[in-house]
Order: sequence, then C-alpha cells, then structure tokens
Amino acid sequence: NEAILEVKDLKKYYPVKSGILGRNQQYLKAVDGVSFSIQKGETFGLVGESGCGKSTVGRSIIRLHDITSGNIYFDGNDIAPLKEKDLKKYRRRMQAVFQDPYASLNPTMNVFELISEPMKIHNSSSISERKEVILDLLERVGLKKDHLYRYPHEFSGGQRQRVSIARALSVRPDFILCDEPISALDVSVQAQVVNMLEDIQQDTGVTYLFIAHDLSMVRHISSRIGVMYLGNMVEIAESNELYKNPLHPYTQALLSAIPEPDTTKAARERIILKGEVPSPLNSPSGCKFRTRCPYAMEICAQVEPPMLDAGDGHQVACYLYGGK
Ligand code: SF4
Ligand code: MG
Repeated sequence: NEAILEVKDLKKYYPVKSGILGRNQQYLKAVDGVSFSIQKGETFGLVGESGCGKSTVGRSIIRLHDITSGNIYFDGNDIAPLKEKDLKKYRRRMQAVFQDPYASLNPTMNVFELISEPMKIHNSSSISERKEVILDLLERVGLKKDHLYRYPHEFSGGQRQRVSIARALSVRPDFILCDEPISALDVSVQAQVVNMLEDIQQDTGVTYLFIAHDLSMVRHISSRIGVMYLGNMVEIAESNELYKNPLHPYTQALLSAIPEPDTTKAARERIILKGEVPSPLNSPSGCKFRTRCPYAMEICAQVEPPMLDAGDGHQVACYLYGGK
C-alpha cells in the first residue's frame, strides 16, 4: 500500500489579540501537531467534537489556507511550503465536498454551469464535450438528465449534495475532502449518499478524507479512523478494531454514547465525561484530555503523551499504554 497523503506534525495557530488595546498576543492552537497518513484508494475517517480541529486539518491538507508548520506530502511531494502558483498543478487532483451544499453552490448558476466551472479551469474542453461528461456524472450521482438546467433552489438538500459531488468528480480528482457531507441531510438520505460515495470509490479508486463529529457516521465508509481532541490526534486504528477495542479514554467515551445496534451484545456502559472541552486558547499542559480524563495521573499534566504503536497499525497517545 502506498500513501497518497502523509501529514507530519501539522500545526495551525491563529493569532488572537487580547487585553487592553490588544497588547497581549495569544495563539489559538486549532491544530497542534497532528501526524497521520492516508493510503491510496482508502477512506480515512476523521472524528471529534466541533472545534477539535478536524476541519482545519482537512482545509490545511488541500491548502485552502496556509499552515503554521509541518509537512503535507501529497503523492510524495511536500505541498506545505508551496505558494499558489506552484500549487496550481495539485488543485485539480484535490477536491472537496462540504457540509452545506447551499453555501458552496452559486445560486445563480444552473447545474450545467456549476459542474462546468471546475472543468473550464482545469481542462480545455468544448461545451459539447463537457455536456457529455456532465450527463454521465449526473447519472453517476443519481440525478436525471432533465436536472441539467435547474438551479440549486429547485433541489432538496440531498440532491444539492449530489450536485456538489458531481462537481468535485468532474475533474477526475485523486483525493476528495468530504467535510461532514452527510451531517445536514435527513437520516434516510445519509445512507444513500454514503453508498454512492463508496460506489464511486470502487469505480474510480479515489481516496477520501471523511470528516464527521460522530463515530457512527464514519463506521461503515472508513477503512481507518483517526480521533481528534482539542487540536491533537489521540488515536488511530483500523475501523473495526477501533469499535471493538477503543484504547484512548476519550474514544471510549465517544463510543459509549452510540447506541449498540447489535442486541446480542451487552450495551457499553455510557461514560459521562466531567467538565467541558477547554478553550484552544488556553489548553491544558501535558495531555490535553487530562482535565476530563477519569484516569489522569501526575505525569499526564507534565509532558504531552507520545503517539504509541499498539500493534497492527493501532496507535494511541495515552500514558495508560506506556510512554512514561
Ligand atoms: Fe488520561 Fe493521562 Fe491517558 Fe491523557 S495520558 S488520556 S490524562 S490517562
Ligand atoms: Mg467542521
């Protein structure tokens, strides 16, 4: 297996001024040293509560903004230091689908124009060539030929998300950032969109980074899953392994909140965490989870726990498993 993406010690800090006349310079550490890799053709699920930095990781990877430090190897090349003109050749290969298709689709453009737009930027093709490709794409995403000249407001949320997916696919990307693509959709439509994304991956070999705030949403689509807390990656494992054998106390709490669909198994006991997620402007020393962790020890306040290898690609950042 070959990595299409390798992220090393990614940091994204936002400067924030506070105090009288804004004299104090603080940093909001949205992403604070995240490392992971994504294999070609797989779906990597990235999970965590809102504000944990998962969207910032996604947007950093496709270079929608500059990062503070770290490396982002895309197909072996570090794209982290590249400026816009040098990023151009990577732009076509990395596409994105976001949570709210209504905000990302220009309401004054019809479907033909919306899907044509990235194609015009990245390929030289005639109108008739584009139309042929777009009609194929509409079928691919479960829309009809006569949707071609309709506008975003004429569609349901699920149909609009299908248009966004067709738009992303139109330039034949190698990688698609899917940032909460089903979170705003009706439950009945969520599974359809997930199945469609899986079919597309089967046919094209495209790689996904699939971001969600809830572990139940990424379970079936992901081959591997990463769990984030307060700007850090706390655990990475193969999907089934993570559900069977969650190691990090935070992952255990997240999983305990999901109703167990298999009634033959005893339900996990619900773990209620104390307190709130601290502000990323003022995050705890050492392990950032320690203020809410039922197992916190002295060492946890002192040094940030390193990411440990627990075998079979299962990684966890917690002193309960060593690293002291
Ligand atoms: Fe809890 Fe310590 Fe593990 Fe952090 S390192 S999750 S505080 S036991
Ligand atoms: Mg988000």
